[in-house]
Amino acid sequence: MVVPATALSFAPNVQFDAALIRKLSRQGPRYTSYPTADRFTDGFGMGDYMQAVNSVRAMGARNPLSLYVHIPFCDKLCYYCACNKIITKNRSKAEVYLTYLKREIDMQGKLAGDLNMVTQLHFGGGTPTYLSDEQMGDLLAHMRRWFRFATDDAGEYSIEIDPRTVTLERIRTLRTQGFNRISFGVQDFDPDVQKAVNRIQPEETTLAVMNAAREAGFRSISIDLIYGLPKQNLMTMDRTLTKVIAADPDRISIYNYAHMPALFKSQRRIAEDELPSAETKLDMLSLCIKRLTTAGYVYIGMDHFAKPTDDLAVAQRQGRLHRNFQGYSTHAEAEMISCGVSAISAVGSTYSQNEKTLDAYYERIEQGELPIARGIKLNVDDLLRRIIIQMLMCNFELSIASLEVAYPITFANYFAKELEQLRVMEQDSLLTIDPEWLTVSPKGRLLIRNICMVFDRYLGEKQEVKTERLRYSKTI
Ligand code: SF4
Repeated sequence: MVVPATALSFAPNVQFDAALIRKLSRQGPRYTSYPTADRFTDGFGMGDYMQAVNSVRAMGARNPLSLYVHIPFCDKLCYYCACNKIITKNRSKAEVYLTYLKREIDMQGKLAGDLNMVTQLHFGGGTPTYLSDEQMGDLLAHMRRWFRFATDDAGEYSIEIDPRTVTLERIRTLRTQGFNRISFGVQDFDPDVQKAVNRIQPEETTLAVMNAAREAGFRSISIDLIYGLPKQNLMTMDRTLTKVIAADPDRISIYNYAHMPALFKSQRRIAEDELPSAETKLDMLSLCIKRLTTAGYVYIGMDHFAKPTDDLAVAQRQGRLHRNFQGYSTHAEAEMISCGVSAISAVGSTYSQNEKTLDAYYERIEQGELPIARGIKLNVDDLLRRIIIQMLMCNFELSIASLEVAYPITFANYFAKELEQLRVMEQDSLLTIDPEWLTVSPKGRLLIRNICMVFDRYLGEKQEVKTERLRYSKTI
């Protein structure tokens, strides 16, 4: 029996407080990793990565594998984009890229393919559907030579698509190729907004892709919206939300557009005088939360909503939710092996990132090396803070007692400085602190980044404070 989303809905688990957001919103990391990627150094290289894989093996390799594949190419530039992508219509570039990518997969497969079963695969970009059906089939077959994949019902196999560039037949093919989750950007249904950001994606196209994905048997359909784009206002957002709710996706992400033209060249094409004011942005966010929670969606955290029946919401209720470079995930504690230009792996207690330019990436592979450019080996303090940030981001609470069992610390002593800052937040009703638990309130959930930032040791380093504003987007 299919249970309608609303049948399982609860009272909204998030509360919008404009005054509090105005007071506390500041620039901060999104914590898809801790330490964040800007702390990686080039002192970390291929030898360190190989050592991390060997330690995982020596410890019995209990965690399953999670694979990430980065396809950097896109047909057309969306002006708001802050991803690492290459805009080109020259398909031969993808051919060349695939030959190198397969060589990297060979190296990773030889090194780590036997560690454990793959229970998670994600294709991201750029635009993974820039590859043709044949190229995708060939790449997946290549990966299966080295890695063992869990069955369809036991694994989470997802791909980001661009509805503007796929046929409905293509959607069906992706399902038969093994993908069972699909995600894509909508951003806004309003034609003027779409024009202002150079992403014309007719409503009929989006809806047809969603229907085809449903008919093809994808387990979860996820869409992205953005608030804060040029020409957006409360009316356009309200109309878009009505259409989105009627389309009934399983997951919805609502991102705050961070206009940082000094960092992202493509954003310089956005007319600043067409951007909504900070106040309008807050009103739009409030509207999104109200409309989606009324429609029965649950706030998962950090811009994400899901139907209460979706695996993400179920995992959160069961305390199994995890956060990694692709956002929230139901598969906790996997060793993440990532392939492709700029891709980031998380193996054992390390993070490592591949070369960011195609030339450097190709050159390293030509030399027979894994194309790792930088990374970090986490110390015990990093691991402790990482688990705290994970718990807060995923569960909105932290069991101090469990932490003290797992780590040789007394929380009140080790985090005395942090507790001082948290007490100020407690006065603002962001959370409650008792000897056993930190519990984030429905008001504090929207400002979860602020709470996590208290535990980020690196943010406290003096000289960092000035540049912080340039690197991170605002917490709301
Ligand atoms: S938003 Fe997506 S499709 Fe658009 S340029 Fe960026 S990566 Fe490519």
